[in-house]
Amino acid sequence: MASLLPTARFATTVAKLAQLPRDGLPEVAFVGRSNAGKSSAINALCQRRRLAFASKTPGRTQALNCFALGPEKLDRPLALIVDTPGYGFAAAPLEVKREWDQLAGRYLQVRDALCAVVLVMDVRRGVTELDRALLRWIRPDVPVLVILTKSDKLGRAQQRQALDTVEAALREARLPNPVSLLAFSSTTGLGLEQARGWLEAVLGEAIEAIEARDHADAQQGEDTQQGTPRNPTP
Ligand code: GDP
Repeated sequence: MASLLPTARFATTVAKLAQLPRDGLPEVAFVGRSNAGKSSAINALCQRRRLAFASKTPGRTQALNCFALGPEKLDRPLALIVDTPGYGFAAAPLEVKREWDQLAGRYLQVRDALCAVVLVMDVRRGVTELDRALLRWIRPDVPVLVILTKSDKLGRAQQRQALDTVEAALREARLPNPVSLLAFSSTTGLGLEQARGWLEAVLGEAIEAIEARDHADAQQGEDTQQGTPRNPTP
């Protein structure tokens, strides 16, 4: 399949889960503390300058921003990127935190279409209590890619140390999910190819699974129409 990430374009913004698209397309969510470098990472991964942009206003309405992936000439996208609001603003009022839990938190817990999560972490902060709480919300079968952004700010030895520390913290959290970990920099492109490879692979798999299901449904419809004998006994 041709690369999906460079086809990313804005699709929709929703402030309620009920407003999310209903077509069951696979979704990859990006989550992270505000200022971790999430918008920069999305833009770098999709080779776009201002696809995602962060608001620095703590009280701003919480929303999920969806970006469509797949050739534009198709009548519907093949998959979506879902950018969640940054969390952990020190100054955020309790109401904003509650809104985050209600929207992004619930999204991670209940969304069937969610096929992967990218957790963006500032390499200098490591795994915070909020990151840990969020990781526990993700359904156990959903793979997670943790990217340590701004790794360009550290030397090689410090980068390795940061990776070791985060790896130990993730191991200690005993998550059931498949977790991958990468040093990353939107500025220098460190880890960019590996992150793209990971995303294209999980998306490709999810899209193939949906195509196989649609094909089987269509086949069954045809068989029924053609009056193929059924075999009701086991
Ligand atoms: P968000 O709030 O998580 O979306 O964070 P942004 O992507 O807006 O980034 C927050 C700040 O960190 C901005 O000033 C970015 O220029 C900077 N930044 C983001 N990623 C990197 C990176 O990989 N390296 C460096 N040096 N700075 C970065």
